[in-house]
Amino acid sequence: MSEVQPKSILSEEAAMKLRAASLRPTRQRIAIAERLLDGRARHVSAEQLRDELVAYGQPMALATIYNCLHQFEEAGLLRPVHHAGDAVLYDTNLGDHHHFVDVETGELIDIDPGEILMPELPELPDGFEAESIELTVRLRRKS
Ligand SMILES: [Zn+2]
Repeated sequence: MSEVQPKSILSEEAAMKLRAASLRPTRQRIAIAERLLDGRARHVSAEQLRDELVAYGQPMALATIYNCLHQFEEAGLLRPVHHAGDAVLYDTNLGDHHHFVDVETGELIDIDPGEILMPELPELPDGFEAESIELTVRLRRKS
């Protein structure tokens, strides 16, 4: 599992990013922005985030964390990914990319789109266009 990272951007920087996304910089949003909007590519669940916030003395109710993550998503600051069973992971990498997923742990690893030769798409259903193409390579440890 990923280790807990100390925050690496300042509260003022976090507040600025929130304002730029038209989100009022509340104490909770700032605490989350400090962890997730520092430019590192990460995939975190609400539960992981809760544990990190506790570890850094900023405990927050899970419901509040879910609300904030949803607001960040609506504001285009995070992107949800749904590979890991039921848990939604939030991706801080907003660029087009693909993922390796460890089927045992649910951990995601980014794959640069340049590393994959895209297949030709089948004909799309009537009335639809492709919004994006995302490839998931499911990994399991060799036995
Ligand atoms: Zn990713």
